[in-house]
Amino acid sequence: MKVKVLTIFPELFPGFLGSSLTGKALDDGKWSLETVNIRNYAFDKHGSVDDTPAGGGAGMVMRPDVLGAALKENYSGGRLINMSPRGKPLNQKMVHELAKEDNLTIICSRFEGIDERVLEAYGAEDVSIGDYILTGGEQAAQIMLDAIVRLLPDVLGNAESVEDESFEKFLLEYPQYTKPAEWEGRCVPDVLLSGHHQKIKDCRLEQSKQVTKVRRPDLWKKYLDSEKN
Ligand code: SAH
Repeated sequence: MKVKVLTIFPELFPGFLGSSLTGKALDDGKWSLETVNIRNYAFDKHGSVDDTPAGGGAGMVMRPDVLGAALKENYSGGRLINMSPRGKPLNQKMVHELAKEDNLTIICSRFEGIDERVLEAYGAEDVSIGDYILTGGEQAAQIMLDAIVRLLPDVLGNAESVEDESFEKFLLEYPQYTKPAEWEGRCVPDVLLSGHHQKIKDCRLEQSKQVTKVRRPDLWKKYLDSEKN
């Protein structure tokens, strides 16, 4: 997968994506990352990319002509995503879809956001990583990319570990335990030490259901609906 990121802070990349699994996958060429500094497309010598909002109000808005020039030179098809709290909320289903793409171009903005006309002209999709406000799209893009890259072929060691995870089947993951079998008077549940695979599976499913029901009634409803079909 080829990823291109348009930003005024290229030095923020690869950031944490350069470490651990995503960093190894980057080194191994399982994905590539190119940053484009939007400032290089500014028309004045100060490198201005933003201006005051039409109609007044607080903050600054990224100019369509500057971002448009950056896109014209650097966007050559594929999904174009603009990180925005106004976007479609990212979920694991979208992450799976995005992981199938060969090319992803991601726009990161700061301040109040971007002039709507350039987003319309290029057919950018707004994507949000949650109902809270960050200082910039770079953090959001890195979180989204982290979720995508770990699903690329051969990035995670054990393919099974994806299938069992929270959200994969509308259920949150069951609680995990490891050694020692007893810690400060608290024991690992007996069934997990029994070696009885079917019983372990049943117990984990039951625990997944319980935790989803209590913590995420919205997901629980989706799970029940999916079981009906
Ligand atoms: N005034 C805007 C928020 C601007 S925050 C509003 O109310 O919608 C500055 C930038 O950070 C945004 O343009 C976006 O690129 C990024 N950002 C902030 N929160 C985000 C979120 N939850 N998801 C994705 N991007 C976000």
